[in-house]
Amino acid sequence: MEYCVECQDCEDCFGCFALRHKKFHIFNKPYLEDEYWLLLDQIKTAMLDKGEYGRYFSGKFFHTPHDMSNGSTIYEDFTKHELDYLQIHDFDHSLDGAYGDWSEKKFDEVSNIPDDSLMIDINLFKIKAFQCPFTHRPFTYQPIELELYQVMKLPLPREHFIKRVFDLWRELNMNVYNNGTCQKCEKDIIFAKNRLYPHRKLYCQSCYLLYLENQG
Ligand SMILES: [Zn+2]
Repeated sequence: MEYCVECQDCEDCFGCFALRHKKFHIFNKPYLEDEYWLLLDQIKTAMLDKGEYGRYFSGKFFHTPHDMSNGSTIYEDFTKHELDYLQIHDFDHSLDGAYGDWSEKKFDEVSNIPDDSLMIDINLFKIKAFQCPFTHRPFTYQPIELELYQVMKLPLPREHFIKRVFDLWRELNMNVYNNGTCQKCEKDIIFAKNRLYPHRKLYCQSCYLLYLENQG
């Protein structure tokens, strides 16, 4: 398994995503065993010639715009030069019909979404679409989602649903590390960066465990 992500119980696959119990797949397509080894050899030879084999996949393979992926929590700090080096480029989010067919929808302003979800008529509201001010992508509501907001007496979110996921990503510790000191014993520590909580209290492992013990 090489250049594969989130595959389980697979073997002899290359460049695949989220496969289960598969063999001889390249870019998620199945091949006969003979075809697989031949094509794999051609791909690896071409990658070796370009100096790509063994390195991260180039950002030009991204199918999600980088500013809408969870990687964006890391890329926020990158300079244009660094993004170019990794071949991470901006592209139009709506390319190739990525937004689907919106011809049946009636676009309205986000500011016209009422504060109180009980004020909406679901049958009228379900055909509406809005432009998210954060993602600049259109979004709509599913009737079942609107019903839930009404039952729970919750206000309707005014942003594309991916913004909520985006906010969750920003709460996670990043796979980017800094040097610092424990704020209790001043021992040198390495800690993960966090976008949402950049100035949080940082303890070394033993001070942290002691803190947990004292807090019961
Ligand atoms: Zn400490």
